[in-house]
Amino acid sequence: MAPVCIYLDVLEGMVEHARREYPFESCGLLSGTGQAIDGIRSTSNQKRSRKEFFVPFEELFLFFKELRRTGKQHLGIYHSHPTTDAVPSARDVAEFHYPDVSYWIVSLKEKKPDIRCFLWKQAGFQEVPFTTIMQSYPQNIENPNRAATVKERQET
Ligand SMILES: [Zn+2]
Repeated sequence: MAPVCIYLDVLEGMVEHARREYPFESCGLLSGTGQAIDGIRSTSNQKRSRKEFFVPFEELFLFFKELRRTGKQHLGIYHSHPTTDAVPSARDVAEFHYPDVSYWIVSLKEKKPDIRCFLWKQAGFQEVPFTTIMQSYPQNIENPNRAATVKERQET
């Protein structure tokens, strides 16, 4: 499988969301085309918990509706670990629902955030390397995911 590629501002978006929700876990969905992740949609954590997360079905539905409209693909899901390492917890493994997409965890345990990417292989998570695309996502191309994220931020 080709290495996972992700835009730097998507990584920054995940960290920013994790900090905003601290000490609770944040979560959200990632999109793009091919192997490059260029879209982030932060969602609510229905559990509002420090140790687990759940993306509400309505928000998942809106995300997929938007993908159909834009022709993009669902490429990842992320959540944060406010006080523990960026490795899947036993609960993460037990409640895993997305075997076909990359699985990202942002840890705020140390001062410098630690972001790791995992893929589901047969019976468990395997950490995989990822490539960061440094340039910003081109502003002249419509990116509804980004617009939705900004809008959400303004409302809070
Ligand atoms: Zn977790």
